[in-house]
Amino acid sequence: CGIVGYVGGANAVPVLLEGLTRLEYRGYDSAGVGVLTANGPKVFRAVGRVRDLEQVLPKRLTGKAGIGHTRWATHGPATEANAHPHASADGRTLVVHNGIIDNSATLRARLAADGVTLTSDTDTEVLAHLVGASTAATLEERVIEALAQITGTYAIAVVDADFPGTIVVARQGSPLILGVGEREMFIGSDAAALVRHTSSVVHLDDGELATVTATGFRTFTADQADTGKQPEQIDLVA
Ligand code: GLU
Repeated sequence: CGIVGYVGGANAVPVLLEGLTRLEYRGYDSAGVGVLTANGPKVFRAVGRVRDLEQVLPKRLTGKAGIGHTRWATHGPATEANAHPHASADGRTLVVHNGIIDNSATLRARLAADGVTLTSDTDTEVLAHLVGASTAATLEERVIEALAQITGTYAIAVVDADFPGTIVVARQGSPLILGVGEREMFIGSDAAALVRHTSSVVHLDDGELATVTATGFRTFTADQADTGKQPEQIDLVA
C-alpha cells in the first residue's frame, strides 16, 4: 500500500520509519524495512503498526540505503512472512511492491519446479527471486529482465547487495515519486512520505523506471531509453 526509500549519507532507518509513519493514513496491515548494512542486507517486518515494527528493530541498525513498505494484503493473509520486503533465496536482493502481479501463480509454480523455496503466500515474492536470479551486469537490467516476465500493476523499489549505493524503482499502474535532496535521494508512493525532506520531486509515469543513487537519478523505459525527467517543485507543508 505504501513505499518509501532512502539512499544518501545519513542513516536510512529513521528516514524510512518516519516516511512509513506519514503513509499511515492510507491504511495497512503490516510493515517492514530492508536495509543495506555493513554486514549485508537485513530485513525486519511486523504485523500491525509502524510502532510494532520499531519494536523489532535492533537499536543500532544502520545503513546508507534502504526501502520500506506498508502492506495492504491482496495475496495471502497479514502475517510477518507475507510482509514486505521480500528477498531472493540468498537474501541479497530485496523488493517492496504495491499492486498485484497477475501471473504470480504461474511464476510461483515455475520457480518451485526449479527448486526455489517460496517463503510467503504473496504475489510479490516472485519478483525478488526473478531479480536475484538474473546475472545481468547492472541492477536496472536485472529489474528489467524480471519485469518482462510479469503482468499486472506495480510500484516497486529494489535494493541488492551487489549494488550497495543504488535503488532501482519502477512504476506501472501504482504511483511512485522520487524526492531530490542534497547528496541524498528519497522514494515515496506519495508526496506525504517525502515532504519533510525536500520539495523537489520527480513523478514517474507508467512504464518508467529509475536508478537512484545518493548523487542523483536517471529515468528510463524498459528498453533502456532515457526519459530525462527533471525535478519539479511541490508546494506542500510538511
Ligand atoms: N500484492 C502485494 C501483497 O499482497 C502488495 C499489496 C500492497 O500493495 O500493499 O503483498
